[in-house]
Amino acid sequence: MSKTMERPSSQAAEAAHKEIIDSCQRIYYDVRLEAIAAWKKEDPAARKAVAYLPVYAPREIFVGSGVRPVATFGGGDQVNVIRGDSFYQSYICHLPRSVVELGLSSWKDTLEGLVAPAICDVIRNVSGVWKVLFPDKLTYFLDLPQNFQSKCGGKFYLSQLQELAEHLSKMSGRKPDADAYREAIVSYNRNRRAVRALAKMRVENPHWVPAWEYYLLVRAGDQMDADTHTDLIEKYIDLAGELNRPEQDNARIMVVGGFCEQPPLNLIRTIERSGCYLVDDDFTLGYRFLEQDADENIDPFQSLVDVYLKHSTYSSVKYEGDTPKSKRLVETALAKRADGVLLMSPSFCDPSLLDRPHFQKALEDAGIPYSTLQYAENLGQFAPIREQTGTFAEAIKLWGEG
Ligand code: SF4
Repeated sequence: MSKTMERPSSQAAEAAHKEIIDSCQRIYYDVRLEAIAAWKKEDPAARKAVAYLPVYAPREIFVGSGVRPVATFGGGDQVNVIRGDSFYQSYICHLPRSVVELGLSSWKDTLEGLVAPAICDVIRNVSGVWKVLFPDKLTYFLDLPQNFQSKCGGKFYLSQLQELAEHLSKMSGRKPDADAYREAIVSYNRNRRAVRALAKMRVENPHWVPAWEYYLLVRAGDQMDADTHTDLIEKYIDLAGELNRPEQDNARIMVVGGFCEQPPLNLIRTIERSGCYLVDDDFTLGYRFLEQDADENIDPFQSLVDVYLKHSTYSSVKYEGDTPKSKRLVETALAKRADGVLLMSPSFCDPSLLDRPHFQKALEDAGIPYSTLQYAENLGQFAPIREQTGTFAEAIKLWGEG
């Protein structure tokens, strides 16, 4: 039993912690972007908001161009999809359906546009549908490079960022200014450092940072400006050690594969309650996609290009180059001291499912236990998953060190 059980948390720490989590929860459930609509209402002529789809988008370009970036991961389990279904065939993931459903209902009055980063054919198709449905809004298909040489992929990506900035600046009416982009880089560098610090804390003390709280905290950045989000995370980090949460005899699990369509929050809680500490996951990978700071002292566009080419993380939506993703996966699992890996993909997600056999083989070769499961954002039945992940955790504890 943990020694921390002997000393109760202070009431002030409990109250401050509850306030943070409650505020994050309000953002998480606000899939219709009512808070963004209210924010815009205060100054409709000046405030513009453009959403972006997973996984990664250079938010610095939005902010430097005078536009609020809004991260969207679809409708989760809160949207009854009716019209969205009519745009897609049966055998694809759920995310595009809820994105279109929300676009046709609440988002069309709130957002000035949508940026769709190139991660798969489905997202490419979403950008096409969006363009047809909302011809007066901005639809930008951000073709992230799959070549990581500066002279080729770097040159191409630079032109993409410049073009995106042009569109956004035209929308906001703000004249492009290098200092504004540089300031945005400073804010987002700080934000990424905070997210990395939170991720590190849960590797070191997973009982201080439950996975569902980590998830909510990071997702709070979907609608917040970078500095407010960073302050919130830093406040949580300061409080986390004061809560005296008891350590459980859980298995340390790393989750991989859910980088785009998100599992329902209750699925994350279910996995955790079945006896797993999630020491790492890629649900909100975009917030940590850049593993190092962007250079704050050079041309801001070039800085974003360089950091993307040289220091973006491995992912199923990126060409692996000289280092196989499966090798990075094993290295990460070892670095995070994961007892096992849960390969967890959205149903019909090609990028995630196509990497799965490679990941399984690498984990088998490295002797790291793994289990696989699939979900959809609107999943409502958790009992079979609780049984599966609970059994996985128990098996690791019984036989994992043998
Ligand atoms: S869940 Fe997978 S298949 Fe669906 S849009 Fe995202 S990356 Fe593409």
